[in-house]
Amino acid sequence: MKINPNLTREEYDVIVKKGTEKPFTGKLLYNKEKGVYVCKNCGAEIFSSDAKFDSACGWPSFDKVKDSQNVKLNEDLSFGMKRIEVTCAKCGAHLGHLFDDGPTDTGKRYCINSLSMDFKKT
Ligand SMILES: [Zn+2]
Repeated sequence: MKINPNLTREEYDVIVKKGTEKPFTGKLLYNKEKGVYVCKNCGAEIFSSDAKFDSACGWPSFDKVKDSQNVKLNEDLSFGMKRIEVTCAKCGAHLGHLFDDGPTDTGKRYCINSLSMDFKKT
């Protein structure tokens, strides 16, 4: 994995070491502006603001990806749970997890760390 040298320690812990930011602390959690969410490590476009919805989980939540080519899903069996890990297909950055309990038509809830993303206003 090619690591962006500009990552902060907190970003590195989530993106490279697959950590999770504390719930309700992410700076993009309540962002409602129109734009695109990109991978913090490499800039690949991951989510459109149209896919973002309010979730009580404490992390930015989306119901679909912008381009499925840019995202990779991996089975994650850590912590004794069976979850789907979401990573950036281009650079391998850890983004968050995918759950099948979304409230919209897609039924998907991409639960993503603010620290893994940058937001670009359109
Ligand atoms: Zn990336």
